[in-house]
Amino acid sequence: MDIRAHVSMVFHLDKCIGCHTCSVACKNIWTDRKGTEYMWWNNVETKPGTGYPTQWEDQGKYKGGWEKGKDGKIHLRLHNRTEGLTNIFYNPALPTIDDYYEPWTYDYENLFNAPEGDDQPTARAVSMITGKPMDNIEAGPNWDDDLGGSPLYASNDVNLDKLTEDEREQLNEIERVVFFYLPRICNHCLNPGCVAACPAGAIYKRGEDGIVLISQEKCRAWRMCISGCPYKKTYYNWSSGKSEKCILCFPRLESGQPPACFHSCVGRIRYLGVLLYDADQIEQCASVPDEDLVAAQRDMIQDPFDPEIIAAAKANGISDAMIAAAQNSPVYKFVKKWQIALPLHPEFRTLPMLYYVPPMLPVLAKTKDGNYDIEGLDQENLPTMLSSLEKARMPIKYMASLFSAGNVEEVEQVYRKLIAVRIFKRAQKVKGYQQAEVDTALAQGKTDAEEVEAIFRLTSLPTYEERFVVPPLGRESAVEAWERPLDRKREAGFGVRNKIAKRKF
Ligand code: SF4
Ligand code: SF4
Repeated sequence: MDIRAHVSMVFHLDKCIGCHTCSVACKNIWTDRKGTEYMWWNNVETKPGTGYPTQWEDQGKYKGGWEKGKDGKIHLRLHNRTEGLTNIFYNPALPTIDDYYEPWTYDYENLFNAPEGDDQPTARAVSMITGKPMDNIEAGPNWDDDLGGSPLYASNDVNLDKLTEDEREQLNEIERVVFFYLPRICNHCLNPGCVAACPAGAIYKRGEDGIVLISQEKCRAWRMCISGCPYKKTYYNWSSGKSEKCILCFPRLESGQPPACFHSCVGRIRYLGVLLYDADQIEQCASVPDEDLVAAQRDMIQDPFDPEIIAAAKANGISDAMIAAAQNSPVYKFVKKWQIALPLHPEFRTLPMLYYVPPMLPVLAKTKDGNYDIEGLDQENLPTMLSSLEKARMPIKYMASLFSAGNVEEVEQVYRKLIAVRIFKRAQKVKGYQQAEVDTALAQGKTDAEEVEAIFRLTSLPTYEERFVVPPLGRESAVEAWERPLDRKREAGFGVRNKIAKRKF
């Protein structure tokens, strides 16, 4: 057992209003520099949609993450070690600037300085790459936002591939059209494709909190991390000649403040807390069959109240403050205790450490001929509008493609619990439900009144102190404070205090 601490985030997607405040807060702090114009370390996508960079989920195109080989082991999809060296000058799996978008600004000066004329002066779009006016803007970091480009763009979403024609139609029909928002930052993975793909060994994971960082000193601009990351969350700065990525605002965390995206979030959808996990399970966890990935990742997260885990954590140098934070962690509750937050695309096998509560949407059921579609449904079922999974507007298979590597049962169980919360609270507050219906919902959600109240409380009424439970990180006690993390990396995995047996990966 090798217990380590990780600072992790949960996004509650039903609360995201797609305002992009998080993206703008991040951009103002970190990517408002030369060479970073096109970068959005935090971006918010509309789903279904192709995202940013476009079709980033299509690993046939980008070759990110890991795949399971015939030998049962996982291998980088991009290349093996030898190919990595022989093809070091040739990497065809990179997104182009068109896959991101050509960044632009506007000629605001013209609004003030245009000569008097018959027409209102306009601020033309100007490319931030060429400096020339742009007549046609054809892409942006959230081009599908609020149906801006749908179905032209949304229909190219790779998660739709497994849906039937009928299910796809149902998503795109005007008046029934359905979408939700997906904020994305680097997942600070436990088995990061970016780290494994980097020939310069410039990327490392901090020991005390799991934040994945790129050494600007060591980076040699090979850009393999950009392909190796299946989430496309490392970016190349053309001006500095180095790759960059989300740093989870570690300078803010070190002084006891949450990341800017968290702090500015209008919907208060984000929760930040500590998880304790067993690093000995990483390789095995990343190698299980697709349908077991979510459960295996959950198993890796350990009970912070278990005396054996606490002792192992202390032996690894984890501070009392971190252990206390893990015991009070909102992320632990959502991910492990209530099991309603899931990792994004676990089939990429990087073991992402950010989690999502899938959205219920205001109305769950789809309609047919102007009424809720109850055709073929068992009469025993709960009221259709709020509870129908069988006839959901957003097909469960789509959610499973995003959050459970296609395991429909896993996502269904999350929804059954969320439905139980909704029905229980509606019965309490607005009435209209029989006790038998409430009992059925609780039984289907495998939950009880006490848990439902706790989920409701943390979802709807949490204070700032309940959403952000991370102690100011004690850099003075971190191994990197007295040793270079990159020197330590090859010897002992990443930044642990005590030298441990050499790992195979
Ligand atoms: S999401 Fe972050 S940690 Fe994971 S592979 Fe991508 S850049 Fe690396
Ligand atoms: S600030 Fe919060 S609510 Fe707004 S888009 Fe970002 S995650 Fe969603």
